[in-house]
Amino acid sequence: MLKFPFRRLFHTSVTQLSEFSHIVIGGGVVGVATASELQQQTGNNVLLVEQHDTLGQETTSRNSEVIHAGLYYPKSSLKAQLCIAGKNKIYQAWKSGDLPVDLQQCGKWVVAQDEVEEEYLHKLGSNAKELDVPVHFVPLDKAKQDYPLIRANRAILESPTSGIISAHEFVSFHEANFENNDGTVGLNSKVVDIVHNSGTSNYTVTLGVDGEAIEITSDNIVNSAGLFAADIANMILPQQDHYNYYYAKGNYFSYTPETPIGQRITDKLIYPCPNPNASSLGTHLTLDLGGQLRFGPDLEWLDVSSASQIDYTPNPRNLQPAYEAVKLYFPAITPNALSPSYSGVRPKLLSAKESKQKFADFVIKEQEGFPGFVNLLGIESPGLTAAWAIADYVKNIYHK
Ligand SMILES: Cc1cc2nc3c(=O)[nH]c(=O)nc-3n(C[C@H](O)[C@H](O)[C@H](O)COP(=O)(O)OP(=O)(O)OC[C@H]3O[C@@H](n4cnc5c(N)ncnc54)[C@H](O)[C@@H]3O)c2cc1C
Repeated sequence: MLKFPFRRLFHTSVTQLSEFSHIVIGGGVVGVATASELQQQTGNNVLLVEQHDTLGQETTSRNSEVIHAGLYYPKSSLKAQLCIAGKNKIYQAWKSGDLPVDLQQCGKWVVAQDEVEEEYLHKLGSNAKELDVPVHFVPLDKAKQDYPLIRANRAILESPTSGIISAHEFVSFHEANFENNDGTVGLNSKVVDIVHNSGTSNYTVTLGVDGEAIEITSDNIVNSAGLFAADIANMILPQQDHYNYYYAKGNYFSYTPETPIGQRITDKLIYPCPNPNASSLGTHLTLDLGGQLRFGPDLEWLDVSSASQIDYTPNPRNLQPAYEAVKLYFPAITPNALSPSYSGVRPKLLSAKESKQKFADFVIKEQEGFPGFVNLLGIESPGLTAAWAIADYVKNIYHK
């Protein structure tokens, strides 16, 4: 890994106006995948800047690491389109040996406990079919035989293309591709200001590096700053056009049985039916790649005005509600088997109240009035699954 600042790629071409063709802000999974796709286009020289000393330290390493199948989202949405495309890219590359990362296509069950939930599952099944995502109902007696500790009173919808992936290895894969194609990574480099140079129509980005301010020019900017993406966009926008983020924390709970269970609980991810309009999928059971169970994330709206105020300590007050949620589909759980583990935070463009009323899609677009400045906003779940497809989508904005 090259440490920034250095000079190798500055002024590579006499005809080029700026030092870089693109600066990608944010070295999470989405930023690094996007930087890598852009760098592969002839004529581009891309700088990826990240405020921390390694890539993928924020939301990219604070999630469930689930490869989502894409069941839940409306057909016309970017979330559906990019989740399914991202998932397909991951599995195709992995099956052909081109994606050397740890993953398992373990599948998932969504379980219904009553009539209302069963009706929801049928709607979910229809939506999946419309999206061409494979799903099927599992006979309850068969389910009882396979995983007797999992309760599903009314119905189970299985999604065989759901899986789990090492987010860390997925980031390393894109990082290696980027660097092998001569992309430039600037670590410990925090974007503190951006100016649109209207005469030349390029951008001057000011980075804080080791207490010093460094100015770099670029023809194009990709804002992939995760929880800070609204702040980055607002650096160039007039006050009246500012974006506003809300932050919704998801707490995770680790599982250690108080007395040995003595049988396999599940090899599949287990999801409850989400509460209507809950803006999360409900406290579910996921497996890590070592087969350990964990539960979460729940949904806790934070009362902070900036991502820099986020306290990631998992909230112990949420333990009891999580236990009650899990008990519905895993009745053998005991209260002391769960302990607070870690948390991640969703960048929301809608408030808690608005989220109950409408669906929030990813926002990925060139900012009006700012040619070449592409914002990626509200990249919550399924952003890990979708990352590679988001990268393609951004590439296509520039290379139509
Ligand atoms: C609780 C939770 C569970 C989730 N579960 C799943 C799941 O199972 N499956 C799935 O597909 N998705 C899941 N997601 C979504 C997924 O984790 C995110 O969509 C994805 O990680 C977003 O990646 P990113 O690169 O956009 O953001 P980030 O990983 O947050 O990266 C943004 C980067 O920008 C950097 N940055 C910010 N500001 C600056 C600045 N001024 N200068 C330089 N760098 C800056 C940050 O340091 C950070 O590294 C989950 C999300 C949450 C919160």
